[in-house]
Amino acid sequence: MSDAMKTDPMQTVLVVDDEKVIRDGCTRLLNLEGYRVLAAGNGREALDLLATEPMDLILCDLVMPVMGAFEVLEEVTANYPDLPLIVITGHGTVANAVEAMKKGAYDFITKPFRADHLVLIVKRALEKQTLERRARELQEAQAQNLYDLAMEKSRIRTIINCMADGVLVTNRDLEMVLHNPALMRLLGLSTALVEPTALSDFLADEDLEKGLKSILETSGEEAVLISRELRRGNRYLHTLSAPVHGLDGQVLGTVTVFQDVTTFKQLDEMKSEFVHMVSHELRSPLASIKQLLTVVLDGLAGELMDKQKDLLSRSHLKIQGLLELINDLLDVAKIESGHSFQQQTPLRLGEVLEQTIALVRPRAESQNVSLRLDLPPELPLIQADPRSMEELFTNLISNAVNYSPAGGDVTVSAVSHGDYLAVMVSDNGIGIEPEEIPKIFDKFYRVKHPKTRQVIGTGLGLAIVKGIVESHRGSIEVESQPGAGTTFRVLLPTIPQT
Ligand code: ADP
Repeated sequence: MSDAMKTDPMQTVLVVDDEKVIRDGCTRLLNLEGYRVLAAGNGREALDLLATEPMDLILCDLVMPVMGAFEVLEEVTANYPDLPLIVITGHGTVANAVEAMKKGAYDFITKPFRADHLVLIVKRALEKQTLERRARELQEAQAQNLYDLAMEKSRIRTIINCMADGVLVTNRDLEMVLHNPALMRLLGLSTALVEPTALSDFLADEDLEKGLKSILETSGEEAVLISRELRRGNRYLHTLSAPVHGLDGQVLGTVTVFQDVTTFKQLDEMKSEFVHMVSHELRSPLASIKQLLTVVLDGLAGELMDKQKDLLSRSHLKIQGLLELINDLLDVAKIESGHSFQQQTPLRLGEVLEQTIALVRPRAESQNVSLRLDLPPELPLIQADPRSMEELFTNLISNAVNYSPAGGDVTVSAVSHGDYLAVMVSDNGIGIEPEEIPKIFDKFYRVKHPKTRQVIGTGLGLAIVKGIVESHRGSIEVESQPGAGTTFRVLLPTIPQT
């Protein structure tokens, strides 16, 4: 017998009969079986008892002086539809019992009955009732689940529709299956989109589609996030795309959030223009002061005492630092505005690297860092601006020297790599923590490290490096191990050989 079929000791049976002997007999028998039994002398009393507490089964005499089984049955089917009622009949009233069953009684038992027959019929009725109750509860729970799901869906729809950011969800076939009004506004779409619609029908952006395709190719619960910027008319949109995973971790589609960053862009442009203007205005007077200080320091304005010389030398150094900062700021501004003056010509990068190393070497020697250039005999030509290349590698090599301890080794090497020339600047210095790597190319970002507090810098070097690499259609990567060293790898497209 399964758990569901076991006799529930708490189940209550109501015995309704005008004959006390029957009431008492049934009570004793059913108590022995572990049921709780309540008794009533007629239908009226039975209905009063029913109103006060829940019952699991009624055994009801067919004919009673005050109220018989038919009236009780009527009340029970109307108000307690789950409550089984077994009719107790006398001889000769079986036809009536059958009639009662047609009207909804569960079964009938004929007086006089045997004890085991009564127990069996009661048990069967209660088991059936338990099963029916469970099935109903299950059905209700399922209906509730479906309702909750529909509610959740509608809630998510409402939230998405009220968002200021655009939302675009696609399936695996790159068809849009969910979007919101903000997306329509940001993309400047006026006609409603039906779901599903192929992305290419309304979003003419190959790069974004490519990014979404690469997300669909990911597997498992990989945390891929692709961030891009796109332009729609005079608006700048920042997009962030991620996979949508199913319960088993499978990629079901993609979700992209579109944010309008036009105001930030405009503010950033204004700020850059301001910095550019201020830097420009400061450069000439500072250069003049530096020149004048050089004249005085060279003794051309008269003999200097040691103390005066010391103070003026320190001023000269500070002004030199300021001029370097200003030049960096102007470089960044130029690169960002796309107005940097570049003359890209076929270039032997090896020669530029040799000159750059010669420039940095005195500083490396003063810091006791060895500097090595490792080039193969032949390197392909690249199309590049020599001054920009010098600036790029001066920054990378100076950093490698600055962020290496005394006794460190810095190696600059280059190899041909498919259609690119790969240049590696490696050091065995302090390294960079993985979480810092995405930030080091940001303007003014400097890693706070106890060992580099004395290194003077503006945090602009790598921003300039990145700008130059991008303006030459190249790329840059960093590999670093804190405490062990860092390698920056620059890829620059080579000139195809004819
Ligand atoms: P700056 O050197 O003026 O601080 P950069 O933009 O050149 O600015 O570099 C940003 C940050 O990246 C530096 O502050 C430094 O913490 C880190 N960094 C750059 N190159 C290296 C390197 N070779 N080894 C360790 N850290 C480096």
